[in-house]
Parts: sequence; C-alpha cells; structure tokens
Amino acid sequence: MLADAYDCLLLDLDGVLFRGDEAIPAAPPTLAELRRAGAKLVFLTNNSSRTPEQVAAKLTGVGIVAEPAEVVTSALATAELLATRGGGRAFVVGQEGVRRALEEAGIDVVDGQPARTDLVVVGFDGSVTYDRLKRACLLVQRGAALVATNADASYPAADGLWPGAGALLSVITTTTGVEAEIVGKPFAPLYEAARRRGGGGRPLVIGDRLDTDIEGATRLGWDSMLVLTGVSTREQAETMGPRPTLVAEDISRLLGPPSG
Ligand SMILES: [Mg+2]
Repeated sequence: MLADAYDCLLLDLDGVLFRGDEAIPAAPPTLAELRRAGAKLVFLTNNSSRTPEQVAAKLTGVGIVAEPAEVVTSALATAELLATRGGGRAFVVGQEGVRRALEEAGIDVVDGQPARTDLVVVGFDGSVTYDRLKRACLLVQRGAALVATNADASYPAADGLWPGAGALLSVITTTTGVEAEIVGKPFAPLYEAARRRGGGGRPLVIGDRLDTDIEGATRLGWDSMLVLTGVSTREQAETMGPRPTLVAEDISRLLGPPSG
C-alpha cells in the first residue's frame, strides 16, 4: 500500500482527521488499519494552545487512538528549538500549551513586568491584554529574540474567524518593525520536529491546505498528499502552487496502491 513507501506519516488534524467535533468518516478505520500494519504516525498541529495530552484526548474522543507521545504541536517544536539553542528567560504571549512546553524544555517563563528577557514567544492567546502586548514590544525593542509558534492569521470558530497567533504577532511586528522567527507550518521547524518524533527517514505529509501543509512539505522537498476533506479543492491543487505529490478524496488513499 501507499503508506509502505514512507518511514513515517505526518498527519495534519483539522480537515484531515476531524472537522469540529466529528471524525471525518474515513479517518478512524484508516488509522486503525495503518496501526495494524505498523505505520509510524505523527500528529502535527500549528495550534499551540493545546497540550499533547489534550490533542490525544480530542482524537480519542472522535474514535482515533492516539498517544500524547505521537503529537507534535507548534508549542513543543518551539520549545525544542529554543532548548537546543540554550534556552534562557522567555516572556510569553500564549496559553497553557506554550507555557508548559517551554517550562518542560527547561526554559524559564517570566511573568509580570520584566525589564529584559532573552526571548519573547508568541502563540495563540485568547485572553491577551494590551498590557501584555506592550510588554512584549518593549522587550523586543530591548533585544529579546522574537519567536512565534505559528503565524496563522485567524482561528476558525463556530461563529466565524477569530484573531489567530499571526494576528497577535502582527501587533508586535507592526509596533517594533522586528521580524519574527516562525516555527509552525509552512516553516521547517515543526516538520523537522515531527519527522524526528516519527523516527526520521522518508516522511509523507498529509494535509488539507495547500498554503500551509503542502507548501511546507514542498519547501523541504518532501512528498505530500492533499486530502479533499478540508479547505483546499482539487481545482486549486491543479491550478495553484504548490503541487502536492498526490491528491486524494480522503485519507483512506494511504491504504491504496503505491503509485498514481
Ligand atoms: Mg488542516
């Protein structure tokens, strides 16, 4: 089957495995079959506000068996990246997922009104205040490195689009004129962290968005499969860049023949 051609499968969540609180019908049986066949699965998400335990619980809740150790969030990838550079003191705009990931990687998360920090880390934060954004701007002006878990413009909610991590980040980049380093899709660090988690080797990226999932895989020269159960359409895949290696109606294509 197709999945056998790869050492690990890097799976986007929303639009691939579930939509809202419901599984995409093909997902639970396909993933169960892939597990029986011994495939290495990694679940990756730009959402930094949830912990791996929360992501695994959400998947389990829609009928997909998942272990926290198989989940790589943009928050975890950010923490890994910063820890390999020696960590330091970080001021955080973000929720529990980011804060916990940083602390567990040995990075000192500083609250209150610090005069200086080594890092300002930005993720989605549904209760951010002007005061907190102002502090982040001041710290960046005083030399803190600006790192964002992701740059998603919006956060899709039931009643429409809410400002995403990228929108919050833009407050800081607009104020300071400083560009951020971005960890999540379509940038490389999240994919590389996911491939490490999957044991390395040759990955296949599976996603529903050309502009993030597929774009990121293409930049790295990795194979990708666009599934049509989410945002991007077949027409877009045929007319817009980047080109996925494969376009499939849904994730069950992984169980199908190797080529085509
Ligand atoms: Mg998606």
